[in-house]
Amino acid sequence: MQVITASQIREKARELQQEGRNWHFHILYPGCVFNTQSHQYALVLEDRSSDQTYVTYSDKRFVKINQELLNIYYGDNYLENPVSEYNQVNHASKLLNQVDVFRQNHIPWHHHMLFPDCIFNQYPGKWNIVLEGDRPNLIFNELFDEEPLEVLRQLEIRYLERN
Ligand SMILES: [Zn+2]
Ligand SMILES: [Zn+2]
Repeated sequence: MQVITASQIREKARELQQEGRNWHFHILYPGCVFNTQSHQYALVLEDRSSDQTYVTYSDKRFVKINQELLNIYYGDNYLENPVSEYNQVNHASKLLNQVDVFRQNHIPWHHHMLFPDCIFNQYPGKWNIVLEGDRPNLIFNELFDEEPLEVLRQLEIRYLERN
């Protein structure tokens, strides 16, 4: 992984999106199963078109740039508008129910959308959403054959409510 600055990651995301390239990003918490290389927050950008991965580290949670990158990736109003053509909320009840359990028990949580070609995805070819509670061994995942846009949106909304 190549270390660059947060603003370089934002620039790169804009460029890749404009060029229609295949890219995505992750925010990895200290202690996150995918954050093996640091004790800080890591913002990872994968350019799958050229197989390049970039990272920047911080003691802060990348709250603002997370939303900026979501808007670049999914479009400005992604969180405001249901993805009506995908009716996968029932399909995701396992993950969303687990989020309810975390909330009831006041357990901090976060999630990862792992794309079919993601370097972190143990199930290449599938969309894989991973949900982690901030306790040992509280890791759940669900695989999807099609991009689970609405499931992810529901998770993002709950996640932002948390902050
Ligand atoms: Zn994680
Ligand atoms: Zn990835």
